Amino acid sequence: MLNQLQQDYLRTMDIDIWVRQELIVETQPPQPISIAKPIKPTRRPIPTTSPFPSISPSNTSQVDQVGWEQLHAQVAQCTNCALHQSRTQAVFGVGNPNADILFIGEAPGADEDRQGEPFVGRAGQLLNKMLYAIQLQRDDIYIANILKCRPPDNRNPTADEKLCCTPYLKRQIALIQPKVIIALGRVAATFLLESDKAMGALRNTSRKQSVSYADTGVRVLATYHPAYLLRSNLQKRKAWEDLQLIKQIITEQGL
Ligand code: URA
Repeated sequence: MLNQLQQDYLRTMDIDIWVRQELIVETQPPQPISIAKPIKPTRRPIPTTSPFPSISPSNTSQVDQVGWEQLHAQVAQCTNCALHQSRTQAVFGVGNPNADILFIGEAPGADEDRQGEPFVGRAGQLLNKMLYAIQLQRDDIYIANILKCRPPDNRNPTADEKLCCTPYLKRQIALIQPKVIIALGRVAATFLLESDKAMGALRNTSRKQSVSYADTGVRVLATYHPAYLLRSNLQKRKAWEDLQLIKQIITEQGL
């Protein structure tokens, strides 16, 4: 029999729980989770030199020196790839700029493009539930994407788009200085782990070994993208295992 906490985890992720009839007990439904507003950075000084590497295609060459405000402005005005023509707005990122835990997705969808915040659509609702399952709120973490602008029809980011946009993400990582990075889905996982392997393989490797982002010592864990989990109930079990591992790391590192 699962304990109450474990049942709550599974329920929040919409995983069916099989319980013998005579063992059923009344439980409280999970409380709604508030969506975080962007928070102004306060705690850490902005690093001028960084252990995090940067790549610099043409007009993002200044990115690896700038602070939050300038970075935000650059992203908002970016015209480095064609996606700026179809966007409503660039989606910078949201959460605690001093967070120990950084979640990285793929690219804004239609809801995010409209609202200017990552993971606010259906996948975002599931991400909220996943966070709740490990006692995290959006205020505790930072959430960003590989691309800041929505690809038309939510197609996969192209190699050029990733090359143009990831210097912004690299600077965000350098400013946040997270202790753990969670890659949501294959686009984020392949970029962060610098590997072209399939999602299952990347997930397995990152579960078994302590693989780090660009040799910085910052552990990367690759798990399934919430949008994929909405379509694939089978993988929710694995995502649940990943959440338990994330929780274990958070606890062990006192994050
Ligand atoms: N999917 C993503 O990868 N990022 C978002 O912000 C929304 C959906």
